[in-house]
Amino acid sequence: MDYQLLADLLFPDVTMTPEEAEAKYPPRSLPEGAKVTRFAPSPTGFVHFGGMYQAVVDERLAHQSGGVFFLRIEDTDGQREVDGAVEALLSTLKTYGVKYDEGVAFDENGRLTAVGDYGPYKQSERAFLYHIYAKKLVAEGKAYPCFSTEEQLEEIRETDKKAEIQNTDWHTAAAEKRAKMLKNREFTMDEVKAHLAAGDPFVVRILAGGDPEKKTKFTDLVKGNLEVPENDEDFVLLKSDGIPTYHFAHAVDDHLMRTTHVIRGEDWLPSLPKHIQLFRYLGFRMPKYLHTAQILKNDGNGGKKKLSKRDMGAKMDDYRQMGYVAEVVWEYLLTLLNSNFEEWHMQNPGKSALEFPFNIKKMSVSGCLFDFDKLNDVSKNVLSAMTADEIYDKTLDWAKEFDPAFAALLEADPAYAKSFFSIGRGGKKPRKDFATLAEIRPFVSFFYDGLFERSEEIPAQYDRGDIRAVYEKFLESYDPADDMDTWFGKIRSIGESLGYTPDMKAWKADPSAFRGNVGDVSMFLRIAVTGRMNSPDMYAVMQVLGADRVRARIAEAAASL
Ligand code: GLU
Repeated sequence: MDYQLLADLLFPDVTMTPEEAEAKYPPRSLPEGAKVTRFAPSPTGFVHFGGMYQAVVDERLAHQSGGVFFLRIEDTDGQREVDGAVEALLSTLKTYGVKYDEGVAFDENGRLTAVGDYGPYKQSERAFLYHIYAKKLVAEGKAYPCFSTEEQLEEIRETDKKAEIQNTDWHTAAAEKRAKMLKNREFTMDEVKAHLAAGDPFVVRILAGGDPEKKTKFTDLVKGNLEVPENDEDFVLLKSDGIPTYHFAHAVDDHLMRTTHVIRGEDWLPSLPKHIQLFRYLGFRMPKYLHTAQILKNDGNGGKKKLSKRDMGAKMDDYRQMGYVAEVVWEYLLTLLNSNFEEWHMQNPGKSALEFPFNIKKMSVSGCLFDFDKLNDVSKNVLSAMTADEIYDKTLDWAKEFDPAFAALLEADPAYAKSFFSIGRGGKKPRKDFATLAEIRPFVSFFYDGLFERSEEIPAQYDRGDIRAVYEKFLESYDPADDMDTWFGKIRSIGESLGYTPDMKAWKADPSAFRGNVGDVSMFLRIAVTGRMNSPDMYAVMQVLGADRVRARIAEAAASL
């Protein structure tokens, strides 16, 4: 068979040679050790938590080494594509601060554009490149056209099913399938010409050269040393519409785009035999691979299962809606990704997560457990370490999208909002009142008369007359100009005059000797002013609320007793 003639017949329009393609995408000039990584999602409508997990590894490895991180849109599966999905994907990456150097991006008018010299960055626009290499493989006798009809292909697929039903052993089934497969390889040039003249569709298949009994050694940077069987499957390189399969596109793209490290899910591990064969056939050097562990969650029965698309926490956009900020997502992911991140963070409290020396060797090999409790812990820490201005900005930004009424309140008086956000912030042990931005409105609601409600009551065991007396005496002596000690001194003496001791030791020794203690007195006031048992420091709260509101709330509480 004249393979060159076959290649010319199949690809009459391909004029660029592989050498020319190589010259168009030369090796990148980067410092020694710089890594080139890519995030290569299929635009299916949303970014999965597992995708974000990979994107963080991509970003860290590239930018930590002075390399390049690019975004490639893998839109070769038209059926799975959703309208507006690329835009949605870019916005999600932006929301979580995933910064890449090249790839599909928004221009200043919010329209899609591409940045970088190794494009196009959408696979659907790279068909001309795949065809160059498909032609080369055909010309070298390493790939061939397959004009099989859908029925013939179905018959081959049926072999698998039959084997399963009849419980045929793997070797017999594989041999049967292979025999059918090998028939595809038998054709003459005249047959090809006739098919082409009739306009019959065809796919291009690789001519598999491997023996699955033989193993190739392969080192994955996460999974370690593996033994991979050789490929003996004539898998499809180009579909009948000329669009490549993932396998083929991956080899051509990651070679020409000069990727040094491929970070992808471990579900791609079974495809390695195909990829090893392809890179060999194409004469490309393989990049290094990191096959990341699955994201697992507790199944509620003491076991673990894969975090599926439908699970809470699977879609990245949900995090924004739930009120987790970008910094939290990064810190949480780094906690999952590198076992020593938390310890480092504790030792370097002021430092940004981006200063952490990310290490491939510390990545989880078998599975990463996702859980909201841990995420909330991380979030509480991150939010508590922010300044009042930062919290104000983040909350406002979030509320504009998800709670416009609250946003309007915050915007109406920023200085007021910042003053209550300042309470309990800044010191060595800042308060950790909320895990998400969504929890802020209910937490700070009592600062706004329009949102204020009395959600908790003073327990019935306390004498109503005592409570009323506390309120009256407090109103008589309250002076907003008092410093904290004076203010508290007054509360102590009000309590003491009513039989509520300020001496906690004495109280503990014999509670029956008193009507209560000073903590109870504070609680009466807290409930009057905030409507609940727990609130930040009462002195600060009263300072922020202002004397008028404090007086009105206490008077109202007294009246409602
Ligand atoms: N488009 C593939 C996916 O979404 C990318 C795998 C890879 O990163 O190579 O699974």
